[in-house]
Amino acid sequence: MQETEVFEKGRKILHILNDLGYESYFVGGALRDYRLGREIHDIDIATPLLPDEVMRIFPKTVPIGVKHGTVLVLFEGESFEVTTFRMEDKYDDFRHPNEVYFVKDIVLDLARRDFTMNAMAMNQDNEWMDPYHGLHDIQRKCVRAVGDARERFFEDPLRILRGYRFCAQLDFDLDVETEMAACESAHFIQHISIERIQLEMEKLLNAAYPQAVWKMLEKSDICSYMPFGKSEVSLYALEEYDFTKLHSIEEKWVLLYAALQITTASLQFVKWRFSNQKRKTIERLFSVLEKKRAQNLTKSEIYTLGLAQSLAFTRIQSELYHLDSEQRQQQISEIWHSLPIKNRSDLLFDGKDVLLQTNQKKGPWLGVLLKQLEAAVLNGECVNNQYEMEEWIEKWLQKSENKY
Ligand code: ATP
Ligand code: MG
Repeated sequence: MQETEVFEKGRKILHILNDLGYESYFVGGALRDYRLGREIHDIDIATPLLPDEVMRIFPKTVPIGVKHGTVLVLFEGESFEVTTFRMEDKYDDFRHPNEVYFVKDIVLDLARRDFTMNAMAMNQDNEWMDPYHGLHDIQRKCVRAVGDARERFFEDPLRILRGYRFCAQLDFDLDVETEMAACESAHFIQHISIERIQLEMEKLLNAAYPQAVWKMLEKSDICSYMPFGKSEVSLYALEEYDFTKLHSIEEKWVLLYAALQITTASLQFVKWRFSNQKRKTIERLFSVLEKKRAQNLTKSEIYTLGLAQSLAFTRIQSELYHLDSEQRQQQISEIWHSLPIKNRSDLLFDGKDVLLQTNQKKGPWLGVLLKQLEAAVLNGECVNNQYEMEEWIEKWLQKSENKY
C-alpha cells in the first residue's frame, strides 16, 4: 500500500467528519514520518467528536481506548485511530494521567503531546497546523519537548526514553534544553512500568542509528534507574558495535549485555518482561557466548543449537569480537548442510527399532545407546542406514554387556 493511498483513505474519513461540521485532523507520528519520507505505520486522526459519536458514524469500529477517547475505525481495508481532542490533568503516579478532559480545540490537543515533531496537525486540504514549529525542528534534526521540558518529563518520564528512542530512529539530536531536562529528570524513569520501558528500549535497540544515543544515555545515567544490572563499563563502550548488523531483538539484548560485561545478566533477564520463548533464546545465546567467547562453534554445537541459533550466535560473536561475520556465517551454513542428521528424529532407528532388533527389555541403557548412536552418526562413525546401524548396535551391546 502506497503511503499516499493510506492518506487518501484517511482523508475520506476527515471529509465525512468535516461535512458533519467537526473539523478533524491527521496528527502525530504519521505526519512526522510522512515529512521525513519514512515508512508510515499507523495514521492517527484527532476529532472534536466523542468516541460514542465516532462509533455511530462509522459502521466498523473497535473501541480500543474509549476512556481515553480512542476508537479504531476500520475503513476501506485500513485502520485509523480516531481520538477525541483531549487534555490531561496532573499526573501524580508518574504513569497515567489522573483525568482525561475532552476539549473542542485542536491547539489544546497538540499542547499535550510530547515533542514538537509529534505535535503537528494537517487538515483535509493539506493545511498544516504547527504551533510549536515541529517542521523547523524536523529540518534541523532536533527532538524538542513541547513547552517546558522539565514539566513534560515530570508529567510522564517515559517521554525521556521516547526522546532518546526518536534520536536513535531518526538520527536526530536532543535540543539542548530538552537534553538538560532529560538528564535532570532521568531518575523519574524508575516510577515507570517495566513494560512501557521495555517497549521503548526495544524500539531503540531496533533503531537504524542507535550509536549516537549511547552517549546520551550515559550522560543522563538513565540506565541506572532501569533493570539493567551493574555494568563493568560505560555505555560509551557500545559505540564500537553495530547493532543493525544483528537480525533479531534477542540477538541485540545479548550483544548489549555482553558488550556491557554485565555478569549478572541471567538475573537481569528475569526482570525484563520477555516471553518464555524469548527469554529462553536470550539465555541460551548468552550462555553459549560466555562459554565460547571468540571461538568457533563445533559441529556438535551447531547441531545442538540448530541453524538459526547458530547463525544468530555467530552474528553476535562476530560483532562483539570484530570478526568477519559473512564468512563465518557461510562456514556455519556449510557445516550445517553437511551434517548427516539435523536432529534426533532424523535417525533411521528410534527406541522401538532398537528394542526390536536387540530383543531386550527397556531400560536406562536404551537412552545411553541412542545418545551415543546419534553422536556416532553425527561424527561419521556410523552411517544413517539400516545395515550400518544394526552392526553398530551389535558392537555397542558387546562392548557394554555388563554395564547396563
Ligand atoms: P511510533 O508509532 O513510530 O512509535 P508515534 O509518534 O506515532 O511513533 P505513538 O506512541 O504511536 O508514537 O503516539 C502517537 C502520538 O501520540 C505521538 O506522535 C504523540 O503526539 C502522542 N504521544 C504518544 N505518547 C506520548 C506521551 N507519552 N506523551 C505525550 N504525547 C504522546
Ligand atoms: Mg504511532
